[in-house]
Amino acid sequence: MVRVLRRQVRGRTIVRSRLIRDDVVKNRSRSAFLRGIRRAEIRDVYRRAKNAVFDMKEYTLVVQPGMTGSFHVTDASTPVVLSDYPVLTMALDDGRRLTYRDVRRLGRIYLLRPDEWQSFSARIGPEPLDPALTAETFGAVLRRSRQAIKKVIMDQRRLAGVGNIYANEALFVSGIDPSRPADSLTASDCRRLLAAIQDILRAAVAAEGTTIRDYRTASGKPGGFQTQLFVYGREGEPCRNCGTPLAATHTIDARTTVFCYRCQR
Ligand SMILES: [Zn+2]
Repeated sequence: MVRVLRRQVRGRTIVRSRLIRDDVVKNRSRSAFLRGIRRAEIRDVYRRAKNAVFDMKEYTLVVQPGMTGSFHVTDASTPVVLSDYPVLTMALDDGRRLTYRDVRRLGRIYLLRPDEWQSFSARIGPEPLDPALTAETFGAVLRRSRQAIKKVIMDQRRLAGVGNIYANEALFVSGIDPSRPADSLTASDCRRLLAAIQDILRAAVAAEGTTIRDYRTASGKPGGFQTQLFVYGREGEPCRNCGTPLAATHTIDARTTVFCYRCQR
């Protein structure tokens, strides 16, 4: 999402904006929010954890699209259609318009001053795709917790960006029981798990994400990674590795965990 967005809006200035659903903005009043992004230049767009981050000099605009949010760039003359669930529209200085849509409004928007952005980002764990994250550092993070490994890798304060789908997949690929206490993983388990998380995230980003229900890419199409899933959504179907019917449980974190009894001992 961010990769496409960066190409489309970097260097543009917001000339006019409209906040159609203000409950999505979490830390500013409607008027303070609109004032803050007025005439702002989008210097860069990048991803941090599950957030699209717009660097706008005076402020950082953080959009957490959740499960159903998406960005669309169109000609400014294209009418805004309310049945498309628009939340925020921003007219750009090149005659186009950036719209943030959110079907179920599970997303969140924050407008942060530099110091607020610093502390926001500091509360999030390391990026799994950051080359600076070694298996040793990752292992040290895991050893600090006795919680189920699945819960720990999904805890955004410990590791950024891994949600339920990719946690299920990475634990399967690395052959690790999702309920195992994090501090029981060996150095080799940690290496395998980090490598699996990185592989899965890279493949999912390359496929423009996973669409289970409503998620759409920046070009309006569903993502492509759902066809490559090993376990998520495949309860009762044969394990792609050994043929054993996959099991599901909700006892680890109240979310669906699908796994193979044989491959993830
Ligand atoms: Zn299996």
